[in-house]
Amino acid sequence: MLHFRIRLRRTTAGCCAKSRPKLKYVHARPNVVEFAPPEPQCGYRSCPATSPTMLNVHLVPHTHDDVGWLKTVDQYFYGSRNDIQHAGVQYILDSVIPELLNDPTKRFIYVEMAFFARWWREQDNIMKENVRKLVNEGRLEFVLGGWCMNDEASTHYNAMIDQHTLGFSFLEQEFGACARPRVGWQIDPFGHSREQASMFAQFGFDGLFFGRLDYQDKDNRLKQHNMEFVWRGSPKNLGEASELFTGVLYNHYVPPPGFCFDESCNDEPIMDDERMHDVNIQSRVQDFIKIVNDQAQHFHSNNIMMTMGSDFQYQNAHTWYKNLDKLIKYVNQQQSNGSNINLLYSTPSCYLFNVNHLNQVWNSTKDDFFPYASRENTFWSGYFSSRAALKGYARKSNNFLQVCKQLDVLANLMRQGVNVTEDLRLYKEALGVVQHHDGVSGTEKQHVANDYAQRLAAGAEKCQKVTNAAFEKLLPKGSEKAPSQVYCPLTNISYCEFTEHNKQFMVTIYNPLGHAVTDYVRIPVVASMYRVVDPRGANVTAQLVPVSDETKKIPERNGSIAQSELFFHVELPPLGYSTYFVMETKNSDEATSKNSKIVPVTSGKADIPLYIQNDEYLVLLDNINGNTLGINNKKKKIDLPVNQGIWWYEAYGGNCSKGEFQASGAYALRTKGERQRVPDKEMQLNSYILTGELVQEAHMIFGDEASQVIRLYNNKPYVEFEWTVGPINIKDKIGKEYITLYDTQQTVESGDLFYTDANGREILERRRDHRNTWSFNNTEHVAGNYFPVNSRIYIQDKAKNQQLTVLTDRSEGGGSLESGTMELLVHRRLLYDDHFGVGEPLNETGADGQGLVVRGKQLALLDTIKDSPALHRSLALRMYMAPSVSFSPLTMTPEQAMVKYNTQWSALKKPLPANVHMLTLEQWVSPSITPVEVSQILLRFEHIYEKDEDPVLSQPATVNLTDFTTFKIEAMRELTLGANLPLSELNRLPWRYIPDSEESLSKEELLRTAIPHSDPPTTITLQPMQIRTFVATLNTQH
Ligand SMILES: [Zn+2]
Repeated sequence: MLHFRIRLRRTTAGCCAKSRPKLKYVHARPNVVEFAPPEPQCGYRSCPATSPTMLNVHLVPHTHDDVGWLKTVDQYFYGSRNDIQHAGVQYILDSVIPELLNDPTKRFIYVEMAFFARWWREQDNIMKENVRKLVNEGRLEFVLGGWCMNDEASTHYNAMIDQHTLGFSFLEQEFGACARPRVGWQIDPFGHSREQASMFAQFGFDGLFFGRLDYQDKDNRLKQHNMEFVWRGSPKNLGEASELFTGVLYNHYVPPPGFCFDESCNDEPIMDDERMHDVNIQSRVQDFIKIVNDQAQHFHSNNIMMTMGSDFQYQNAHTWYKNLDKLIKYVNQQQSNGSNINLLYSTPSCYLFNVNHLNQVWNSTKDDFFPYASRENTFWSGYFSSRAALKGYARKSNNFLQVCKQLDVLANLMRQGVNVTEDLRLYKEALGVVQHHDGVSGTEKQHVANDYAQRLAAGAEKCQKVTNAAFEKLLPKGSEKAPSQVYCPLTNISYCEFTEHNKQFMVTIYNPLGHAVTDYVRIPVVASMYRVVDPRGANVTAQLVPVSDETKKIPERNGSIAQSELFFHVELPPLGYSTYFVMETKNSDEATSKNSKIVPVTSGKADIPLYIQNDEYLVLLDNINGNTLGINNKKKKIDLPVNQGIWWYEAYGGNCSKGEFQASGAYALRTKGERQRVPDKEMQLNSYILTGELVQEAHMIFGDEASQVIRLYNNKPYVEFEWTVGPINIKDKIGKEYITLYDTQQTVESGDLFYTDANGREILERRRDHRNTWSFNNTEHVAGNYFPVNSRIYIQDKAKNQQLTVLTDRSEGGGSLESGTMELLVHRRLLYDDHFGVGEPLNETGADGQGLVVRGKQLALLDTIKDSPALHRSLALRMYMAPSVSFSPLTMTPEQAMVKYNTQWSALKKPLPANVHMLTLEQWVSPSITPVEVSQILLRFEHIYEKDEDPVLSQPATVNLTDFTTFKIEAMRELTLGANLPLSELNRLPWRYIPDSEESLSKEELLRTAIPHSDPPTTITLQPMQIRTFVATLNTQH
């Protein structure tokens, strides 16, 4: 294979010699060299001995514990509702630990910290000491170590990093270094994201194992001995730091057929007493040896791994271990008859360590593993969009959690004796469980989805306590007590009890970004005239927009009396807030609000074009079917016939007995026939166009099931599409998949290429009906061409230098099914279960039981290819880190309030560079109830551009750490991305691989000099897409 250029990967700080056990001769079996560590230690040193001359079979006892699916996370923990599923995680740990304590050869891995932390809280000191001993000896090993095993398709990188940090910090606090996970273990998620691989590499993991990949891909990999490879997580930007050895599990994550020894299984136990009638030992041994040899054929090394466990197994661990003991004993006995098979209890990391020893040259890939197909016609791309409301809520909740964590630090609450650790913990844990692969994925039962939403709501309530405590410190100039802040989470459906029932109030808008932001707020109100005043006392123009009939119909609004929404423009400092004043008035001279002008669409004459416009865009509308006809970027002089509207597919029904009868369900997407538009005659007569000083809107109604507001804000360089879908009618016994379609009528000649993001970060090129790694036979035109869209999708016409980008406010499935088009699946209502376990059709019925109404936003950008990244990068950031709006009573004049309160405040002397985002700012200390003078924070800075995306913004960026006004960094240490290891101590296993292209790695350009010492630098530099993680000690007296 010399014609391949072989690239040798090296670790950053020397090699891993110190963690590699020395060769030692052991006399148990003559002529066998064993890797035996000299003394028991954790990490790779604690790995069981293997034989270099034998085929080592690493038996990995494990349990897969979903953090909610058919039952809620609490029901799973306690084992309640066993009528739904017989599963109780507490019993698993209760049962496994004594087995491990009784026999030092036994191993077990544990994965989901959401469960382990609950169990741990209930243990006494003796048990805790016993468990620590098991961890320190490597007999109980934590793999993955996240709060959950997160979904990879509908998760956002911010929440993924946070949920791992939460799990890692629990392990670090309770167990220290021996519990630090070394491998990723994504055995059940339904497809795999490249960003996840990059993240795992940056956590310091040495490898990743997963279970599900496209059946065609798996067949090929088995044939080509390519089940293990090096995954290049960020080949263009991060290079080596993002590379990860990856193994596809042979048998998904279950035991080989016939060898499940859990009490929930029906396989035969090992019966070995020859004196008895029922003896099967000989055939069982022979069967197992055959399985071993079959599996080994597909792998390169003399080590293979077998997953001995499955969902919620080991509640009675003894049945597993007793039979595995026998299996090991009798199979290994065959060695005296010439067998070369050596079974051992092991863990994924010990398997990995042995494979690494071979010093083999591996293949590599830089593709991801989406969408996952389990057979023909069965593509698991429905869950990219399932439970659109929960997906939106998860994204919004992440936004608010970041706001709370920031305000806690910026208001120095800890130093002032206000300990909000517990409040934040609850919200972090709620977000942590929602990231689960049956959480935000939308593949759980309805009652479990309700439980997730309830957890997020309870967390948000705690979080409001934190922001209130912060504003109590930040708002008053003197001893005046700050008014309490009230939040209105339902403003997206024009409902806010506080603003509807108060004639005047303050609006405080906190901006969690390190950049100054201008935005528009929308406040539900009842009166017809208002005066709005800015933080310095100047009048602010506002626009009153009547609440639409489509909004009034939403049952969750029940109780709202809002007649209008008050729009006004706000200016927000970086990492800070502005307070505006809103006062109802009867005096038209005093009022700064102006009414909107409304023109019904039906009043337009057929020959007069219908449109809305601002300085940036003109949007041409079709008064017959509610679609747009064209979008014109006036400044760039790009004028295209973009036909945008809401369409739908009929969902396949079926009994799922084979691929051709596969039904569309919570996991799978299967559409029947072509996409359909709502018939013209159903386009309702109450569509209208609204114009005013600040915002122009076209309200287009598509029958009873869908409507859309197309919105242009003054000075905003995008077109906003606010879609509302539902209740979806299923009285016709047809399930429906609703999409938004952007059709450029073939004027954007994008061919078969389009682009989607990975978890909100890097962009991946997609090619219709094509996979880079194998010759793809697509059996579903729609589902097989849908990919996860976490934040954006775009098409390009390279010849004309045009790009149409759509940004989403939540994860959705989407694709480009013809040249010049894009579509996004926004809401689903289905009649059939797709037979992957959830046991319910995805039929969300909403507050009134008639069918859930979902509302969301997409922003469209029509621009040149060159100028698009600067827009979509900054706008995507603003969408997921939107300003947080709160309200408080106004009992004085704005002028008096300005004397008493800081009406505008920023934690930064200067904004961060435009290409830098402060990804994390949170307290980083153990819980303490006494005020502390010195506190520690966790800080992450991120370069939000990829290499070569923008001539200026893709350049390295420098952050000045002395620009914070509320604290001074006294000492700082750089950590790995998961914040559980000093970066200077990162020492990953080296892997050699064949690059799949000749792209140059950027390693040399990447700044890899960790900041290990306590002398803090005043600046740090970031390379494109780099995230740097620091723990900093503050002097908060500053
Ligand atoms: Zn699972």
